[in-house]
Amino acid sequence: MDDLRPRSWGEALAMRAAHPDALPVAGGTDLMPRMNLAGLRPTALLDLSRVPDLAGWEDRSAWLWIGAAMTYTAMLAELGEHAPALAAASRAVGSPQIRNRGTIGGNLGTASPAGDCHPVLLATRATIEVESPRGQRLIPAREFYLGPRRNALAPDELIRGLLVPKATGPQQFSKVGVRNAMVIAVSSFAVALHRDERRVGTGIGSAGPTPLVAGAAERYLNAELTAGDYWDRKRPLPGPITSRFAELVSAAAEPIDDLRATAGYRRHSLGVLASRALRWCWTDYLKGHR
Ligand SMILES: Cc1cc2nc3c(=O)[nH]c(=O)nc-3n(C[C@H](O)[C@H](O)[C@H](O)COP(=O)(O)OP(=O)(O)OC[C@H]3O[C@@H](n4cnc5c(N)ncnc54)[C@H](O)[C@@H]3O)c2cc1C
Repeated sequence: MDDLRPRSWGEALAMRAAHPDALPVAGGTDLMPRMNLAGLRPTALLDLSRVPDLAGWEDRSAWLWIGAAMTYTAMLAELGEHAPALAAASRAVGSPQIRNRGTIGGNLGTASPAGDCHPVLLATRATIEVESPRGQRLIPAREFYLGPRRNALAPDELIRGLLVPKATGPQQFSKVGVRNAMVIAVSSFAVALHRDERRVGTGIGSAGPTPLVAGAAERYLNAELTAGDYWDRKRPLPGPITSRFAELVSAAAEPIDDLRATAGYRRHSLGVLASRALRWCWTDYLKGHR
């Protein structure tokens, strides 16, 4: 097996084009178990972990640019102020060892419906920056997930980074699993209050063939918040609004029974997560916290 080690982004793209069968690898926390335990035998690996800048991030005015090879440990330490839900999702991933190696680009590359970053990227309306020798594409997260472990990347494209809008209001991410650490989500949920745009974003994980947006729940809550002038008058949210939002989130799921949980439990737990996340966010909003 060839081990390709580009030292620049341009070299990585050229190697990708010259070796179409090579599999990109960043932290290896998804890929290596597939090679060790599932018989995956690529002819070559394209190691992105030495490409400068890919592991960092940049402040771009209203946006954060996050390099594809940024690890969970780094996101947790550095992005809490401007991307609180992404930091919360990073904290929920695996163990310290996995968080030290695993990257956001690897989460997107695998595109597992259970990946912890995805609900946040949907709720915040992030954009994925991908590139090949043919040029660059910006793909909205809401168009990136095409099927179970299938994403919108063309075969010659690499993920360079992501653009995540800086938080303008409270955000939450939470997940249910069979224990608190080292656990694949049974269900997960993210919500972001986009205060400046007077809009709410949602993302559901591990309860469908892909990560999902709860579109009807977003539309319902946006309409209620506007009709009741809740954004400006900063009034507490009545219980029935939170309950209806949670019902609509639960209804947006497309879960199946599997060895981790039944479809019914997934729907139920999502409703609980959604109701709690909205209450926590709104309490923070009333207190003026971002
Ligand atoms: C014990 C254990 C616990 C885990 N717990 C969690 C968890 O709680 N939550 C969670 O979400 N995940 C979890 N994972 C899965 C994994 O750690 C994450 O998905 C992680 O983000 C993968 O990142 P990586 O850099 O290691 O990816 P890699 O294994 O290097 O790559 C994963 C896939 O992405 C592709 N890829 C990587 N980078 C790029 C790029 N820049 N462009 C194009 N394709 C690319 C690779 O070709 C491969 O197909 C766990 C894994 C293990 C082994």
